[in-house]
Order: sequence, then structure tokens, then C-alpha cells
Amino acid sequence: MVLANPICSAAMSTTVDFGAERVSPGEKTRRVAGVFDAVSHRYDLMNDVMSLGSHRLMKRAAVEMARLRAGKRVLDLAGGTGDVAAVAARQVGEAGEVVLADINGAMLDAGRAKLLNKGLAGVRLVHADAAALPFDSGAFDAVLVAFGVRNFTDKAGGLREMARVLKPGGVAVVLEFAKVRQPLLSCAYDAFKSAWPLIGRAVVGDAAPYRYLVESIAEHPGQREFCEMMTAAGFQEVEYHDLIGGAAAIHRGCK
Ligand code: SAM
Repeated sequence: MVLANPICSAAMSTTVDFGAERVSPGEKTRRVAGVFDAVSHRYDLMNDVMSLGSHRLMKRAAVEMARLRAGKRVLDLAGGTGDVAAVAARQVGEAGEVVLADINGAMLDAGRAKLLNKGLAGVRLVHADAAALPFDSGAFDAVLVAFGVRNFTDKAGGLREMARVLKPGGVAVVLEFAKVRQPLLSCAYDAFKSAWPLIGRAVVGDAAPYRYLVESIAEHPGQREFCEMMTAAGFQEVEYHDLIGGAAAIHRGCK
């Protein structure tokens, strides 16, 4: 596996968010790598515990919004341990192709093992930065990202790359944490999230990655702002659907 063109247009920016902090783009890339190196061995278990299993339903809903058919070519970007790639691979069948791309080697290793266990050896894994994808323009019918964009050093650059690698008429689907608007639900959700670092210390042996998770959710743009970011990146007919009252949202756009 080769990390192609690790050039990041965010290198031009002075600072970017890493949770509640502002850091240089290079520092964010380094710290995000540290987060996923630290959690990769218990990543799936923590997802089940923190979301009470609901992340599986949210990922299925995201794949459904791509309206995949047999024979389609799909990119699972920031695909990590491969949950989205696995659902997509079953939908496109052997006539199609699923590529899982991620910047983190430890997450890719965990994803490779899980996909092999599921009998999905046909999913191709690629080590790549979202801001400089090693794929031809127009290579994919659909690009999906689940809980990945928040971690990108260069979010706008990643969205532009997603648009570039899509065929005309192709669809991008982004599942990400979002903003809860209902005040009571928002308070309850904040209380729930405040337990995540404690659970992280108990399950993974490290609270810091889950403090970053909570802070990065707070920093991530709201649903309408993210629609504008997708439109600015070149997507049309951008729409979103809230999940669990806005705790997460699925954005969809067409090229
Ligand atoms: N999509 C998987 C899921 O939903 O379970 C993994 C999500 S995990 C929260 C975020 C993933 O984004 C990590 O695997 C991380 O390595 C990856 N990531 C972060 N920055 C990235 C970048 N610039 N390019 C590609 N992947 C990136």
C-alpha cells in the first residue's frame, strides 16, 4: 500500500481545529493519527458501547441513501474498520467494486482482518489522505464517508476530492455527528457524551481519544453549514436527514 500524493491544501491555512484547540495542519494530522492508533484495537467495541449499537443502523441508512445497484463502483472513504464497505460490497455484488481508503495503517489493518472474516476479501484497501486521493477523476459511482469528515485536516479539500473522483451523476453520502436542536434532547445528549471519556479509559485504557471525540463533535459544522460546504465543493441537490433528533445526520449530494 502506498500513500499517494500526501499533499494537503490545508498546509496553506495557519490553523485548523483539533477538538477544542487550534493547531497547525501538520499537528492535526499527527494527533488524529495518534487518536486512531490508540483506539484501533477496540474501535468496534467502543462504537457499540457508546452508540448502544445504533451506529450500525446509521451506517446502513447511509448506504441505503447511495441507492447502490449490482455492478457499481463505490469508495468508502475514511472507511476505518470497514462497516460501510461491508454493507456496500454485498449490495454491489461481484460485478461491482468497493474500495476502502483510510489514512491510518492501524485502522486499515483492523478493517482488512474484519472484511476477511466476513468473507469479503474482494474489498480493496488503500492507504490514502482524503485531501489527495490516488484515484482517477470520475472513477466511482458513489463515495461514502461515515464519521470521517470531522477528522479531516482539510475538510473542504476532502469534499472537493470526493467530487473529483465521482462520475457525473454520481452520489456522495456523508454520515457524521451533527447538531441536536431540541434543547432537552441536547442536554441529555451532552450528559451522555460526557461519559464517553470515562468509558474510553475503562475499555481502551485511554480517555484522551474520547475527549477529542466529544470536542470534535462540538466543533463540526451544523447541518445547514455542511450543506453549504458540500455545495461549495461542487455537489448539487445537497440535502440532509437528521438521525436521532440531529445527534447525527446524513448529507447527500450529486455530481
Ligand atoms: N468510517 C469508519 C466507521 O464509520 O466506523 C471509521 C470512522 S473513524 C471515526 C474515522 C476514520 O477517519 C479513521 O479511520 C481515520 O483514520 C480516518 N481519517 C482521518 N483523517 C483522514 C484523512 N485525512 N484521510 C482519510 N482518512 C482519514
